[in-house]
Amino acid sequence: MTSLTAVPAYAAPSSKAPLERTTIERRPVGEHDVLIDIKFAGICHSDIHQAREGWGEAIFPMVPGHEIAGVVTEVGSGVTRHSVGDRVGIGCFVDSCRECEYCRQGLEQYCVRGNVPTYNGRDKNGDPTYGGYSRQIVADENYVLRIPDGLSLDVAAPLLCAGITTYSPLRHWNAGPGKKVAVIGLGGLGHMAVKLAHAMGAEVTVLSQSLRKKDDGLRLGADHYYATGDEATFTELRAGFDVILSTVSAPLPMDAYLRLLKVDGAFVNVGAPEEPNTVNMFSLIGGRKTLAGSAIGGIQETQEMLDFCAGHGLGAEIEVIRGDQINEAYERVLNSDVRYRFVIDTATI
Ligand code: NAP
Ligand code: ZN
Ligand code: ZN
Repeated sequence: MTSLTAVPAYAAPSSKAPLERTTIERRPVGEHDVLIDIKFAGICHSDIHQAREGWGEAIFPMVPGHEIAGVVTEVGSGVTRHSVGDRVGIGCFVDSCRECEYCRQGLEQYCVRGNVPTYNGRDKNGDPTYGGYSRQIVADENYVLRIPDGLSLDVAAPLLCAGITTYSPLRHWNAGPGKKVAVIGLGGLGHMAVKLAHAMGAEVTVLSQSLRKKDDGLRLGADHYYATGDEATFTELRAGFDVILSTVSAPLPMDAYLRLLKVDGAFVNVGAPEEPNTVNMFSLIGGRKTLAGSAIGGIQETQEMLDFCAGHGLGAEIEVIRGDQINEAYERVLNSDVRYRFVIDTATI
């Protein structure tokens, strides 16, 4: 059992301060734990919402990061799922109650007692959890994913959140041949939604604020690309989609988007705006429409998603940055200036 101290990390000292280099302590490797040398950590918009307390009160200092890819360097005596040298990942949670009806079904993201978030949470001992913007992490083997050989660690890291958060609802709402799927927002989640929905066989339309990224969208697998800044889009696409997946981080004019659904269509929200959206109920009644949400995915489905991505040669489109570029990257994400995920090379932390 190794006692670990002084792991280099980037942390937000408070919601008002930029992230800065610091050191954190990780727990010793327990019987069912693995120690992971983190190689890459993606920057999710959720990191920014939380580091700035946009979703409410948070725990500081905060080491964000729930798109973690690395290599196992030590295992506890009872570990059976992973070995030293394995390429592995960690997503948005590192534990759950393991007993409730959802944990038993592999839907740990909906654990009734609440799962333990990878950061900005507290573990079973009440200690704060720290995320991937660091060199190492210790985690229970049951919440650690296997990264298939075909995927390199840098493009795999964003799959642990952006990939599973879009894969899970696309599967649940049956994206596939014959289905028209619209993706709102071509950012970190949105670009993975386009790749995944295309690989599943759906006809994919991107609804972006402008046509600036049209060439990219089509290259990533979209069949059509429209600007939502152009009013004509909402007339042309009326009643056109079976599923609309919103990845937008800010409130949207919901009624205008709901008019783009077919009868029985579903508007599925994965974006998590800091302010409420409002909906006129008539937008749902006329057309028997569904307004839904979806959160990340369970451990089993996350593994299925990673295997699906490896099988289809899919990774994220990334821009690799150094630790000292994190604050600048946050500003670029906030300005929708990301193509399409920033990934921190943790050797630079
Ligand atoms: P991102 O990279 O910033 O992408 C969001 C995209 O939304 C932007 O690239 C932009 O695309 C579009 N957008 C931004 N502001 C907009 C506005 N005011 N109006 C219309 N479109 C706008 O963020 P992300 O990392 O993909 O995360 C997206 C959201 O999902 C965040 O709120 C995040 O917290 C949430 N999230 C939820 C889950 C979950 O489990 N449900 C998991 C992860 C993340 P265009 O430039 O193409 O318009
Ligand atoms: Zn995320
Ligand atoms: Zn549970």
